[in-house]
Amino acid sequence: MSNTTPTVEHREFQAEVKQLLDIVIHSLYTDREIFVRELVSNAADALEKLRHTQLTESAVYEPSLALEIHITANEEAKTLTIADHGIGMTREELVENLGTIAHSGSKTFMKALKASGKEGTQLIGQFGVGFYSAFMVADKVDVHTHSWREDGEHLCWTSDGATGYGIEPTEDETRGSRIVLHLKEDATEFAKPERIKEILAKYSNFVGFPIILNGDRVNNVEAVWLKNKSDVTEEQYNEFYKFTAKAFDDPSYTFHFSADAPLVINALLFAPTQNMEMYGMGQMEAGVALYCKKVLIDPNPPKLLPEWMRFLRGVIDSEDLPLNISRESMQDSALIRKLGTVVVKRFLKFLDSEATDNAEKYSEFYKNFSRFIKEGAATDTDNREAVAKLLRFESSMTEAGKHTSLADYVTRMKDGQKAIYYQVAPSRGAIESGPYVEAFKSRGFEVLFLLEPIDDYVVSAMREFDGKPLQSLNSDKVELDETPAEEGESLSTEDSDTLCTWLKESLGKRVENVRTGKRLVSSPAIALLPEGEMTPQMRQMMRALRKDDELSAPEVILEINPRSALIRNLAGLKDKDADTAGLIAQQLLDNTLLSAGLIEDPQPVITRSLQIMEKLAAKLN
Ligand code: ADP
Ligand code: MG
Repeated sequence: MSNTTPTVEHREFQAEVKQLLDIVIHSLYTDREIFVRELVSNAADALEKLRHTQLTESAVYEPSLALEIHITANEEAKTLTIADHGIGMTREELVENLGTIAHSGSKTFMKALKASGKEGTQLIGQFGVGFYSAFMVADKVDVHTHSWREDGEHLCWTSDGATGYGIEPTEDETRGSRIVLHLKEDATEFAKPERIKEILAKYSNFVGFPIILNGDRVNNVEAVWLKNKSDVTEEQYNEFYKFTAKAFDDPSYTFHFSADAPLVINALLFAPTQNMEMYGMGQMEAGVALYCKKVLIDPNPPKLLPEWMRFLRGVIDSEDLPLNISRESMQDSALIRKLGTVVVKRFLKFLDSEATDNAEKYSEFYKNFSRFIKEGAATDTDNREAVAKLLRFESSMTEAGKHTSLADYVTRMKDGQKAIYYQVAPSRGAIESGPYVEAFKSRGFEVLFLLEPIDDYVVSAMREFDGKPLQSLNSDKVELDETPAEEGESLSTEDSDTLCTWLKESLGKRVENVRTGKRLVSSPAIALLPEGEMTPQMRQMMRALRKDDELSAPEVILEINPRSALIRNLAGLKDKDADTAGLIAQQLLDNTLLSAGLIEDPQPVITRSLQIMEKLAAKLN
């Protein structure tokens, strides 16, 4: 009858709120502590909004109140109170904000929540219904409030989280909201200050407003990443790194950047000094947390950065993220992808310039983290070129133990050099004394020395750098020009051809082809891998993976050197003593396979070499 708002009213919750509360109270019991984060971020939001309001409105209620969050844990009364001096709520706002779910996809949300079981508590905040998490731990919640508006009412909203709520006028409310949780019998742990302190440290340490728990300030750590670079000391960075990464070392690299376009981003990334994966700690988890305006959205979002960057620690904060983004939708959200892309590009650029400016420092870092860089160069197709710039290898033009980048290699490439050449081998010595490198050295071509088995996988995946193909010295694909000067005796083309045909016949299926080569200088022969043939490193991996399966024997191309004395003599011997020539041919092939790292069982090689020695000894005796 009356058209004025009744001062005391009782209302039903919106149907969806009832459903939600039912799930929250009856099925979500794990991780209940999350409600602290939700209520504290609501308080922080309300303070943030007040800050804006103060800038735009001429007057607010109780303008001198400090922008703080006060938490009181009262064990005796079994209550937990979270109070802020933020914008507060009017009667209409109480009804609108706490009695209904504004979320448009609330049906989907409800389904997801029901289906997610244990994960459900995480979802609550991410879907923007955080306030109701209070009912996981409380059987009665009071919200005392006074709006920032000077003509606002003093109100108390009360609910048992079942069917509805009441709103009553009160007196002497201060501006903002004071939320009192009357804790359930099984939730009295949340009336203990130590317990709340622990939860605050976990989730709300970087809230940008002071949090005061039972009179003590608890969040000393500021949102370092939102500060100006020039206002943060190295010490502060390091401290923050240790805090956020739960680390004990100092960061090797600290990258602090902000961007306004295409997204508003504040990021603070750290590369550790120690690689925990090297200490046998198992695969690291992604450790760059996602924040939206200082409120933690996800401590380790799985797909924000490429997997190989899992060693990074720190924070990415973007104002453009909706606070209520869910873990699921986050993984395939275009926004998250964009955010990740921007940050990754900037970080890689940063690391590249650091590496160039201070090569020594980078080399220290690379010692511990090359595994990740290599993994990235092999797997991160979106950023491959940028990651490849960070690779370092020894080469025929570096001192032992010193590294070159691929970019520097390219600047040293000779006229007519068609590819970036490399050899994978267990040691520098093995390459330098082996038969492959001589042809490249004699032409002045630099050769990268890839000394880890994983390198083979990396360069195979990369295929090229800066538009130049990466080629292994033992690849059949390598094209070299004729050696300029051919000194000394050599088989005639005809004799060479006959010898090749004979070798092919006597070696049978062990070779795909035999031919004379241009690249050999002093060695009699080398084995080359035809396209598609497994490299020694791949074989090693296959053997490790499938222990029982017999791998087919390698089928190589045998390239012979018609200038070598052994080859010249073999051409004659095959017509006089085919048996001995046959033995030598087999041994020659085995020697090349040994150099190539393709001999698995040395016994037949040893047996045959004994046979040859026996013949030689008999002959010379
Ligand atoms: P969200 O914070 O994602 O909007 P919540 O369920 O946590 O969802 O809160 C619902 C709404 O209630 C908020 O959007 C806000 O308008 C209001 N609210 C909650 N807590 C406070 C508070 N401490 N001060 C003012 N308004 C609040
Ligand atoms: Mg909220």
